[in-house]
Amino acid sequence: MDKRTELGELGEFGLIDRITAETKKYHDSTVEGVGDDAAVIDVGDKYMLITTDMLVEGIHFNLMYAPLMHLGYKAAIVNFSDIYAMNGDVTQITVSIAVSSRFSVEAVEEIYKGIHKACELYQVDLVGGDTTSSTSGLIISVTAIGEVNKEELVLRKGGKENELLVVTGDLGGAFMGLQVLEREREVFKDNPEMQPQLEGVDYILERQLKPEARKDVIHFLKELGVKPTSMIDVSDGLASEALHLCKNGELGCVIYDEKLPIDQETYNTAREFNLDASVCALNGGEDYELLFSVKQEDFDKIKGSEHMTIVGHYTDKASGCSIVDRGGQSIPLTAQGWNHFTEEGEEK
Ligand code: ADP
Ligand code: MG
Repeated sequence: MDKRTELGELGEFGLIDRITAETKKYHDSTVEGVGDDAAVIDVGDKYMLITTDMLVEGIHFNLMYAPLMHLGYKAAIVNFSDIYAMNGDVTQITVSIAVSSRFSVEAVEEIYKGIHKACELYQVDLVGGDTTSSTSGLIISVTAIGEVNKEELVLRKGGKENELLVVTGDLGGAFMGLQVLEREREVFKDNPEMQPQLEGVDYILERQLKPEARKDVIHFLKELGVKPTSMIDVSDGLASEALHLCKNGELGCVIYDEKLPIDQETYNTAREFNLDASVCALNGGEDYELLFSVKQEDFDKIKGSEHMTIVGHYTDKASGCSIVDRGGQSIPLTAQGWNHFTEEGEEK
């Protein structure tokens, strides 16, 4: 009898590796396939970039607190982010939706208001998609197409030892926003009369419900004359993304806890939840910031920027990936969580 392997044994990345291991390449125009933020296709003068991401009700969002317009907006943004992570520009999207009869026409229109808004702000054309029914829940799948001048393409690999690791914006906010929304959902379930407690958390709620992709940073870096040597977008937490960069680039890295950019609201809310803000930044996810490496000589060009923070550097592969805590202790970087911290950070 064939062996049955549980999905949980492999995890998401193990599963992707397994199902794509035998992928063959029939076209020279396929420059990069599975394994980066977007596929890279040679179309002549430029490279075309393609990426796809799906949002599933109950997994990626809960309609009790995610407004439909925001959901449409976010479905587009998470795809734009993967194109910017290649140092490219987004040009078109296609949108596929599966909806159950529980939704009205107006509800679907609301989702599209958000999609159109994202397209307007980021100057992207909606050029197609697919519409079907679903027996349960809502699924939105977006494919984004972009372009990049060949010499400007940036991959997950390509970094070198001693280069600086830089992250844009701040981290952990989207995760903390989700914690607040989940808490309020629980309260509402038990006591529907209660008003939600959402004062003083506007920023982190926006980070969760209406994220932005860092098109601005891609253009800003060009103005500074800095080309990242490797790049990824931060969708699963800084730890997971740093590990991806190191795996693809065959490198190690050191990240400094004290350098992690964390907004005050994220920090305060983490404390309220008895969580360590650094753990949230490292493992929270959904920040849609960019993590990239730059040459040491570019340090002066980026050091004063309000948009980015140097959080560490690449090392050789043999040194592995680690994080240095505030006491100077070096701890292996893991995607699951910084155990040292989670033990004391998890709810007591
Ligand atoms: P990201 O977080 O940047 O969206 P993912 O972690 O979703 O990237 O995917 C990693 C890589 O694996 C990407 O290159 C993606 O295109 C590819 N991939 C993911 N799922 C599949 C699949 N089911 N079949 C083929 N390739 C996949
Ligand atoms: Mg990505």
